[in-house]
Amino acid sequence: MSTYPHLLAPLDLGHVTLPNRVLMGSMHTGLEETGDWARVAEFYATRARGGVALIVTGGMAPNAEGGVFPGAAGLFSAQDIANHRQVTDAVHAAGGRIAMQILHAGRYAYGKECVSASAVKSPISPFVPRELDEAGIEKQIADIVTAASRAQEAGYDGVEIMGSEGYFLNQFLVRHVNKRTDRWGGDYANRMRLPVEVVRRVRAAVGPKFILIYRISLIDLVPDGSSWDEVVLLARAIEAAGASLLNTGIGWHEARVPTIATSVPRAAFTWLTGRLRPEVSIPVITSNRINTPDVAEGILAGGQADMVSMARPFLADPEFVAKAAAGKAAQIAPCIACNQACLDHTFSGKLTSCLVNPRACAETELRYAPTATPKRVAIVGAGAAGMMCAIVAAQRGHSVTLFEASGQIGGLLNLAKVVPGKEEFRGLVDWFGVMLAEAGVDLRLNTRASAPDLAGFDEVVVATGVSPRDPGIAGQDAAHVLGYEAVLTGAPVGKRVAIVGAGGIGFDVAEFLVHQGDSPTEDLALWKREWGVGDPAEVPGGLAAAGPQPEAPARAVTLLQRKAEKPGRRLGKTTGWIHRAALQMKNVQMRGGVSYDAVVPEGMQISTAEGPELLAVDTVVMCAGQVPNRALADALAAAGITAHVIGGADVAAELDAKRAIDQGARLGAAF
Ligand code: NAP
Ligand code: SF4
Repeated sequence: MSTYPHLLAPLDLGHVTLPNRVLMGSMHTGLEETGDWARVAEFYATRARGGVALIVTGGMAPNAEGGVFPGAAGLFSAQDIANHRQVTDAVHAAGGRIAMQILHAGRYAYGKECVSASAVKSPISPFVPRELDEAGIEKQIADIVTAASRAQEAGYDGVEIMGSEGYFLNQFLVRHVNKRTDRWGGDYANRMRLPVEVVRRVRAAVGPKFILIYRISLIDLVPDGSSWDEVVLLARAIEAAGASLLNTGIGWHEARVPTIATSVPRAAFTWLTGRLRPEVSIPVITSNRINTPDVAEGILAGGQADMVSMARPFLADPEFVAKAAAGKAAQIAPCIACNQACLDHTFSGKLTSCLVNPRACAETELRYAPTATPKRVAIVGAGAAGMMCAIVAAQRGHSVTLFEASGQIGGLLNLAKVVPGKEEFRGLVDWFGVMLAEAGVDLRLNTRASAPDLAGFDEVVVATGVSPRDPGIAGQDAAHVLGYEAVLTGAPVGKRVAIVGAGGIGFDVAEFLVHQGDSPTEDLALWKREWGVGDPAEVPGGLAAAGPQPEAPARAVTLLQRKAEKPGRRLGKTTGWIHRAALQMKNVQMRGGVSYDAVVPEGMQISTAEGPELLAVDTVVMCAGQVPNRALADALAAAGITAHVIGGADVAAELDAKRAIDQGARLGAAF
């Protein structure tokens, strides 16, 4: 019997039977806006070949005013329908099924034409929406229905109507956005009229043999959100209006509670789907922070959902389902929920990809084709860049030897693993280990390769990483000064700490030092308390009445930087606020515009615009950035051996795993 009997069980939807319980959730990739429809088609077809039962596309705008941003893609013309036909044909040829998400952003639309129930601006948008009149509401419904009909014409197997995350339909449900007194506002029966009417009319337009998913917000995580009773009322009405499936939505975009970041516990919100399931007769889909077949199987076996939605995990590994079914779950590239190459890209106007899989959204451009001319490849350094290069090159048929001076693979990823909230990095390092073995890489641990050792290889790759930058502060040799590596590997640290440098590592070290005991990421009750997540059955919207209740900090930490800007400003676009909020909850003092005068026996002497100041601390931790380890690269150059230099050894500034892995993969694909 399979290890995942529930995950791989078919699901009968009446007119169609899905082969398993896995849905690829909607993600905006930016691919549609490139106009390269062969590329869009290949992105989805690759996922269909990997065995996912049903794909949901990124959100398509039903009209100009409802687009997330000006020019957002939608089915507006015969050409658009023909373009989408390429996608559906490719998915069907690959044996898959695909539904198109219809996303009306309402007041979240980034444009002055945006519309909503009432003229109430969102805290995350500069635009005040126009309050729709009766005709305006009818137009929005008609446009959504037209989008669904066109999706059917384009060959889609269904549509998902986006009714959660604080978008248009969700906005009508709550009193703080919907201040209307007509039949679309007032009591709940009126406020839920719009989503129910949309579903009813879409079903009437598309007929019974078309999948209709409604994404319902189970917990808004904003003040005055929906109550649980209202959620259930809506779910039942949506079912009666003709939905085939209910998908779970969690949190409005303006919520100040993380819902998908790596520090959110796995399956943190599935308890809500489990509570909804007995209230309706149609299948329910759960979502958010589910990234392994084991977690998904546990949810389904426990009766908390009928299907599991995963979105980002299908960027990380399109073959998620096929590998699980083949007993190769350890080979599934894990989504670590970092957002670095997906959502951070989306919100920076860049095409989506994936930190662990640079081929995501680049399927037609970055190919790992078998080589016709196998070579002997030496790679020095088993950090992120070196490991990825080794795996890709070996998979393509090259003979790869990977030298690592230390006794373990992983490089700096091993430091991330110990930071509370970054436990997903453990799985990432494990995956690299599995894939190095699977690809047949000759891994030489505890082996420091020098130039003569590398002379006989056809290709030499230097991936020797970085060393901590020496900030050159007077008195820094004192016993109470530690490097970040020593701290993260267990060196004793005092109760009052100053951290020099507020980059990614400074923030990680601060997080590490203020925690004690269990990581909230591995303890759902603790995490919910820390972020103030309550129960929508008790408080509408589900924010705990008592607010966030973080554990007391383990230490008093001051995080310092020289730049006179808000520390953490350069962290990830969609996750930086979480890191800053997490440290603020632990009373970490974050200070910019500091100059370091000297480390002194009493602590650290600094100067700010207000003058000199003594920070009375018992430990100073250096997190002042990195410099490349180029000794081997220089020695090879001196010996006349041509080498490729990648990762931190190439450019240390702003190094992150995304760049290292991308560079490694592209070189491994190029030999
Ligand atoms: P970093 O982000 O470049 O930050 C280095 C810090 O050191 C800055 O705060 C910088 O601020 C300070 N600094 C630079 N030169 C200094 C000097 N000579 N003396 C004193 N301070 C100095 O580097 P990192 O923190 O080592 O992180 C490395 C990379 O790992 C990051 O770029 C990041 O991408 C990645 N990472 C990311 C995350 C994440 O959350 N996404 C977490 C960990 C690591 P001032 O120059 O203003 O003082
Ligand atoms: Fe997951 Fe990070 Fe890849 Fe996004 S970039 S899919 S969050 S691993």
